[in-house]
Amino acid sequence: MTNMKNQDIIQNGIPSQPHELNGYSHHEIGDDHLFTSLETPMKPGAFEMSDEEKKYRISGYFAEIMDILGLDLNDDSLKGTPDRVAKMYVEEIFSGLNPENKPKVALFDNKYQYNQMLVEKNITLYSNCEHHFVPIVGVAHVAYISSGKVIGLSKLNRIVQYFAKRPQVQERLTNQIADELMKILDTKDVAVIIDAKHLCVSSRGVEDNASSTVTTYYGGKFNDPDKIRELQGFIHNGI
Ligand SMILES: [Zn+2]
Repeated sequence: MTNMKNQDIIQNGIPSQPHELNGYSHHEIGDDHLFTSLETPMKPGAFEMSDEEKKYRISGYFAEIMDILGLDLNDDSLKGTPDRVAKMYVEEIFSGLNPENKPKVALFDNKYQYNQMLVEKNITLYSNCEHHFVPIVGVAHVAYISSGKVIGLSKLNRIVQYFAKRPQVQERLTNQIADELMKILDTKDVAVIIDAKHLCVSSRGVEDNASSTVTTYYGGKFNDPDKIRELQGFIHNGI
């Protein structure tokens, strides 16, 4: 008997290799937002194509999606949409896929000998769910304890934004930001908290508009109930 779960996995009109995890097809896994590794899964040679060619090809495919949905691409309001979407994907919301766009970060000596935690809270976060390609909207709070070097505050926002501008799952996004901060600042004493709404949960699927998802990374000295309490205090008590 044919396995119905695998039969409907089709790429370019050709059934692909069965893709299952613990016996679940990717259709079934999609709504549960599993992720498989710290690195964003990229194919070999992902950046051989120029941005211009990427935009050209995405625009063509997006026009086809709209056409299949029955939309009239000659309509004045719609005809620019494929180009707009392609530009938005490559230059904006998925620009963080390209390592060339990683923010350049300058380190400074910790001249003030400030040795407590530094918290940058309520960093605006816009990302997109890699299972549904709809927005994840929320805030990120990042904190670190200097090992002797400090970075400009706005760079913390830029690092969050760089990793957010990829198709993402929130757990991976949290860990990627933490991993990058640990590398740059040469310390394990880093914390990242993300509190976000997933539009794939609120606008479709279970259509729950009230829930949000919280993920955390506590490294080094942050693995301590007192430190976590102190950090939570900074985040929840406004100035
Ligand atoms: Zn989703």
